[in-house]
Amino acid sequence: MSITVFSHNYCSLHRVSEVHPEEPARIAAINDQIIRSGMEFALTQKDAKPATKEDLYRVHSANYINDVFERAPTEPGEHIWLDPDTMMTAGTLRAALYAAGSGICAVDEVMTADNRSTFCAIRPPGHHASWDAAMGFCIFNNIAVAAAYAMQQYGLERVAIVDFDVHHGNGTEDIFLNDERVLFCSSFQHPLFPNTGTQTISHEVINIPLPAGCDGPTWQAAVRDRWLPAIDAFAPQLILVSAGFDGHLEDDMAQFKLTEIDYHWMAAELKKLAEQHCEGRIVAMLEGGYEHSSLGRSVVAFLKGMQ
Ligand SMILES: [Zn+2]
Repeated sequence: MSITVFSHNYCSLHRVSEVHPEEPARIAAINDQIIRSGMEFALTQKDAKPATKEDLYRVHSANYINDVFERAPTEPGEHIWLDPDTMMTAGTLRAALYAAGSGICAVDEVMTADNRSTFCAIRPPGHHASWDAAMGFCIFNNIAVAAAYAMQQYGLERVAIVDFDVHHGNGTEDIFLNDERVLFCSSFQHPLFPNTGTQTISHEVINIPLPAGCDGPTWQAAVRDRWLPAIDAFAPQLILVSAGFDGHLEDDMAQFKLTEIDYHWMAAELKKLAEQHCEGRIVAMLEGGYEHSSLGRSVVAFLKGMQ
């Protein structure tokens, strides 16, 4: 068994500006590090396919989807703002559709093929996008699209979504808050954008707010105490991961002090749980991570942890 990595060149069509941190070079940095590490020979690399409107309707309102399609710029140089942080340019809609579609490809892969570990190296990210709004660089909620597809297409009744991005996965929480089929686990720096996740009351949501300066041992202890037993008890039929690497020590988007060791550990722990409950099935999708060197190294560490 190998790990399948899904991506697509169209994910680079989304360009906000020369100085915006959520930029095409992020994916290039991941690919470079995969090659440099020698990991490429241990991976199966596949092109993602685009999500359809029907795929998006499972987790977003028709009004929101139709608005995005109608307003999406088509001419070079044209742009619109969906929220104060989230711009669409001429290539954005296509990039976002391939990002969302990659998770569907990954679900099909783990449900039907030999490879049970998958990673989607895609952008724009998704976990801040809610039922009816874009937010924080996110247009479609990629991980939610994948989870909803898995439940509908394969009849899954229990899926766990683990989100270790340094920001709270407020959009994913919003979409699945009253859905008992979804266990949602998010660890994040607090206070920090979007300043949500501390008041949520639900048996299926396990939020871990941690202060600025949180280091690897502190984060691992919290995850070991709060998430791992809960995921074990939930017995998921699929584990999905919002894999954001902006909590790395070298990433100045926030003030966590995680390192590659922590991302490797997380992947290995999730793989153990997946082996125990769901034949090893993991679908991980890129969220944040803006310092190119640490992003590339962290993704490789995560992939090694899933082996
Ligand atoms: Zn983030």
